[in-house]
Amino acid sequence: MTFTPKTVVCPACGGPSLYAPSNRYRPFCSERCKQMDLGAWAAEEFRVPTTPPLDPAGPEDSWKH
Ligand SMILES: [Zn+2]
Repeated sequence: MTFTPKTVVCPACGGPSLYAPSNRYRPFCSERCKQMDLGAWAAEEFRVPTTPPLDPAGPEDSWKH
């Protein structure tokens, strides 16, 4: 069985991020970037969350361009 990991753009640092089950921090490239994003969420908590920056449960297709 051949599995080609997909690479997406890390929402935190803009670098390449492995979008695969082996990357537990996906769509982020690392734990550091994931924590960075969580911090941003906390900072914007007072804003109306009508458009979250990302949907972890969303389809992978949303990352295609
Ligand atoms: Zn990153």
